[in-house]
Formats: sequence, C-alpha cells, structure tokens
Amino acid sequence: MQSFEQKYYETAEFWKEGMVEDEANTRRLNSSIAILPSDTKTLADIGCGNGVFAKMLQQQRPDIDTLSVDRSETALKYVKTKSKVGDIVALPLEDKTFDCVTCFEVLEHIPYPVYDTVLNELTRISKKYVIISVPYQEKTEYNVTKCPACHAVFNIVLHLRNYFDKDMQELLSKFGFRFVKQQLIEKKNKVYLGVDWYIRFRSGYLRNKGKFRSPICPVCGFENPSFNATGTDPVNNNHTTAGGGGIKGLLKKIWPTKYRTGHWVIAVYERI
Ligand SMILES: [Zn+2]
Repeated sequence: MQSFEQKYYETAEFWKEGMVEDEANTRRLNSSIAILPSDTKTLADIGCGNGVFAKMLQQQRPDIDTLSVDRSETALKYVKTKSKVGDIVALPLEDKTFDCVTCFEVLEHIPYPVYDTVLNELTRISKKYVIISVPYQEKTEYNVTKCPACHAVFNIVLHLRNYFDKDMQELLSKFGFRFVKQQLIEKKNKVYLGVDWYIRFRSGYLRNKGKFRSPICPVCGFENPSFNATGTDPVNNNHTTAGGGGIKGLLKKIWPTKYRTGHWVIAVYERI
C-alpha cells in the first residue's frame, strides 16, 4: 500500500520541467558535475526527480553512462535520459555496479526508520564513490504548516533533518566509505521582512494557523483541494516569496526586502 508520505511525492507539480532550474539550483547542479571524480565512467543518480541532473550531465560529460532512478513514476515521466523505477530502500540494482552513485536533495526527506537502510543501499551499489547533497544547516522550523484535519505540524517540503559539518563527515563511515571533501553552494532567498515577521508572529513557528501549504498531510492523508506548488519547491524553501494577497500582499508593498543566505552542501565519499 502506498503511504501518504509516498503519495506526497506523486504530486506532479513538483516535477514539472523548470521546477529546479532556477539560477541557484543550476549552479548547484553544475558544481555537482564539476566535483565528480575524473575516473567516473558509470553513474547512478538515485532519487533523480525530473532528471535535470542527468540531462545537464549528458550535455557536459557525454562520456559518462548515467542511469536515473526514482520510485515516483510521476517524476520519471519527465526524465528524458536512461531511467529505471526503483525505491531507494531496496534498489533493484546489483552490488558495486556504478563507479559513482549520486543522491541529491533526497536524504533530508528520508523517514527515520529506513535512514540507515537507504545509506546502505547507496553504498552497496557503488564501486568507488558516493556523492551526496543536502541543505546545509537549514532552519526547517521556519517552514512548517498545520494539517486542518489532524492538526499535525510538519515542514512543508518534508525536510526531516538538518545537516552540520559533523553529520556530513560521519555520514557513510559505518558503510565502508570515507569522507573526502565537501563544498558549500550559496543560495539567496528573497525575504519580505514584513511578511516574515507576520508569519512568525501568527504561527509562533509551530502553531501555524495559516493556509495549509502541502498537497497532502503525510500523517492522516488529508488532501488539499487548493494546493499550488508555488513557493513549495522541494529544493527551495523560499516560502516568504510565495503568495501576494491580503495582509501579506500589503506588507510586501510597504516593508523592505532582504536576502537570506542559505547553503547546500555537496560531499564526496570514497570506498575504503
Ligand atoms: Zn493530517
């Protein structure tokens, strides 16, 4: 049976072309290509989403044989390169098949009970390298919503973890891989200070009584009849730029803006 959490990711709006192709994400993906070890000839991108990484990789490194894998058949419809349906908790791939296994902006979404299983799967299918990217020191509590049916409060893009340097360094050590290096990629989110203040004031972060900003509640399965993906990009948490009506719209007009700098971290691991 499909879980509500799994159903969340079948939301087609998340995977449409262009969803992760803004300037900052393009820079992140280019950095992910630049950091690939030079002896990479075969690569599997696990949790590929709409396949934007493989598409860029094929243009820049046509010598690398790449397979994009995702459990979401909705997402795979947008993948133009070689792909396969596969759940990250039990990948339908042999041990040590690929020189390099990439997994970008996925681990922060993985439920706790299967987290180690997932790390084991990523390392199991890799011959030499694993490359991981996740949001770096993200403040996930800034971006929560409350289900109107069961009142569960959760991060709207289902980010379940925050990653610090130590987390990155130790991530795969249990699985026979050593940490080689990491790189931070900057992203600037435009913040309307008035709206930011208003959201904090009303919600106290964890008691958000505002609009339900998720396609489906991962706890009770309540489906949002008026869901709009703007501002809930699975990668970019720029919630304060979304929407323009009512008090928030007014506050946007009269209050100054600033850019809040955030980062992604890309880390390289090598089999010991
Ligand atoms: Zn609910």
